[in-house]
Amino acid sequence: MVKKLINDPLDVVRESMEGVVLTQPGTAILRDRTIVVRADRVSHGPTTDLPVALISGGGAGHEPAHAGYVASGMLTAAVSGAVFSSPSVDAVLDGIRAVTGTGGALLIVKSYTGDRLNFGLAAELARSEGYDVRMVVVGDDVALADDDDNAGRRGLAGTVLVHKSAGALAEQSGCLDDVAAVARAVAAAVGTMGLGLTPCIVPGSDEPGAEIAAEGAELGLGIHGEPGVLSIDMAPADELAARLVDTIVSDRQYGSGARVVALINSTGGTPPMELSIISRAVVKLLQDRGIEVDRLYQGLVMTSLEMAGCSVSLLATDTHDGLLDLLDAPTGSLSWPGHGVAQAPGLTQVDVPAGPELTDDEAGEGNATDEQCSAAIERACKALLDAEDELTQMDKVVGDGDLGTALARGARAWLADPVSGGAAHQLRALSGVVRREVGGTSGPLYAAGLLRAAEAVRAGGDWAAALRAGSEGVQELGGAAEGDRTMVDALAPAAAAAGDGLAAAQQAAHRGADGTADRVARRGRSSYLGDRVKGHPDPGAVAIAVWLDALGS
Ligand code: ADP
Ligand code: MG
Repeated sequence: MVKKLINDPLDVVRESMEGVVLTQPGTAILRDRTIVVRADRVSHGPTTDLPVALISGGGAGHEPAHAGYVASGMLTAAVSGAVFSSPSVDAVLDGIRAVTGTGGALLIVKSYTGDRLNFGLAAELARSEGYDVRMVVVGDDVALADDDDNAGRRGLAGTVLVHKSAGALAEQSGCLDDVAAVARAVAAAVGTMGLGLTPCIVPGSDEPGAEIAAEGAELGLGIHGEPGVLSIDMAPADELAARLVDTIVSDRQYGSGARVVALINSTGGTPPMELSIISRAVVKLLQDRGIEVDRLYQGLVMTSLEMAGCSVSLLATDTHDGLLDLLDAPTGSLSWPGHGVAQAPGLTQVDVPAGPELTDDEAGEGNATDEQCSAAIERACKALLDAEDELTQMDKVVGDGDLGTALARGARAWLADPVSGGAAHQLRALSGVVRREVGGTSGPLYAAGLLRAAEAVRAGGDWAAALRAGSEGVQELGGAAEGDRTMVDALAPAAAAAGDGLAAAQQAAHRGADGTADRVARRGRSSYLGDRVKGHPDPGAVAIAVWLDALGS
């Protein structure tokens, strides 16, 4: 079953456009139509006194395109067809009539046969009704050579740069000739290359329109979930980004010294985290080629439903006089990713603020290294590394599956650079490593426990006193008591038994950890799972038993 947040598949476009009108200030929707307009630009015929209207659209499924760009400084109207299919001639004509007055209208059309025909005929009909209508077709797809035996280059995410630059000029009272000239210049100059990782499913259908190999990716694809011009093997983000950038750079012949604007678009299913990794790669790749990046935009701009993937669009900054000013100009669109961005990207790095220096005494520099302590910590770390997978598996069942890797990260960091000195100094240093490396819930708890243990040792206590102090530290910071199904269920009994020797402490820890399987959690992430954790021991408690077991020789 395909799960989508929809009602009747036939209603998805209208319902989603109503949602856009509710979230995007200043917009309205035409009754019984899938056409969104600026509420302040409604026309009553060709003689209505209005500035140049910018009208775009096409099939749905590319949200936020196009209704999300209906706002001051961008589009005046967006006309939508059904998912992935062009709006009808009449729909486009309705859109033209709705917002066009004395200033005339520019239709911005992505180059697909259906869109060209429907927008083209609507423009002709509107002209016969007395509207001054021009049309610009965007074909920014560099995956297809212009002279190939196909319907020509398709319109992709670069279209949004046309909306933005032409929209800014229209907002500044530019005349239709000038607005059309900017739009034509940007449309002709921008180059886009797309990459798809997973397919997308049209609402109401139960399978993808086209499959993408589980281990592969599609390079050079349009925006309708279709296969690309090339199926490639999956590769690290930097390599995939290089393929996109290299194709555009060679198609557009950007040499060293060129200046560009870059737009990194998610095809819908790729989260911002991955998109940022692509943005980083693109800037680096361009800079490596001597190409300056004047602006970097990133976001969901022109999507293909839920498809995972991205596209990169590059536009030469010298395409048009004042291009950057037009891109920087304000717009009311919440979907334009350049909100407030009027700066070239730069990876500014700030030094990490230094903490206070330890005094000689605290640093334990004068103390001889406690070899027994060093060896014990080393064994404990190795035991946690050996148990990494087991703990992670256990945490997957009752938590979020990161405990093994988190503790192993701390252990690895210590083993890579162990600190020598007295036992108190070592424990304190270990606390610092844990604090920096482990994170999650365990990180601060272990760090607190180790800090207390270090204090106990400094005050003359033995390892049993250190364990007791550590256990108290964990309980104070975490607020968990024995029986709450946490690491405390192993740690506290072990600390209590430590006076009878290490073996007693180890046995108590195991008993405590085993006992957690019968309990419901009252602390930590597991506490949200109620009875579902029963039968599985708490991984944090098991981890205590793991490193305690390793402390003896
Ligand atoms: P997170 O849930 O943040 O991913 P970790 O994976 O680092 O946490 O650690 C999970 C373990 O932390 C649990 O198995 C449990 O033993 C322990 N834990 C959770 N909350 C507490 C608490 N308040 N006091 C002591 N231990 C806790
Ligand atoms: Mg966890």
